[in-house]
Amino acid sequence: MAKTKPGRKDLDSYTIRGTNKVVRPGDCVLMRPSESDKPPYVARVEKIEADHRNNVKVRVRWYYRPEESAGGRRQFHGAKELFLSDHYDVQSAHTIEGKCVVHTFKNYTKLENVGAEDYFYRFEYKAATGGFTPDGVAVYCKCEMPYNPDDLMVQCEGCKDWFHPSCMGMTIEDAKKLDRFLCSDCSPNEHANRSLNHFPVSPSIETKVEPKRRKR
Ligand SMILES: [Zn+2]
Ligand SMILES: [Zn+2]
Repeated sequence: MAKTKPGRKDLDSYTIRGTNKVVRPGDCVLMRPSESDKPPYVARVEKIEADHRNNVKVRVRWYYRPEESAGGRRQFHGAKELFLSDHYDVQSAHTIEGKCVVHTFKNYTKLENVGAEDYFYRFEYKAATGGFTPDGVAVYCKCEMPYNPDDLMVQCEGCKDWFHPSCMGMTIEDAKKLDRFLCSDCSPNEHANRSLNHFPVSPSIETKVEPKRRKR
């Protein structure tokens, strides 16, 4: 079976209408949604082709926003988070409104400035089942949540885990002023408090010994 249907030809690029922005296979694009009050769809262009009338079509692989997934948006999802779906489509190239960049999670967290066109993904999403790959990610803090790159976290110098200031009873302003941070498990003060708390249920040697002396 021929890969290209008769009368169609593959294109190396497409220039977005009314702009000088050039889209090539592999690029990520914003596409006009069917309802104008919705945010643009995000897709990765797999292939660009023109038919015999020179209508340009793009084969795309959709990125889903958390809201569009079966599980919906969760607390740890970032504002710019997308899921790379297994849902492909062919669309008219005219629906492309602009280009964007979908970073890996790691690269996104290293960006100095996040622009309007910057997104990230860390999960692949199966549109039919609502399943994610990977199905688990590292969790942090007392609340044991995956990292939301929109939320400030502070790293403990002791255990190297990361914590939300709010989960540690601090404001974000407090956390930003800290030179160093020790979580409650690693903080020496907390250890002192804890041993005091434990005092009544684990008596010191003195209290054990004294009654024996009195018996003699
Ligand atoms: Zn937390
Ligand atoms: Zn710690």
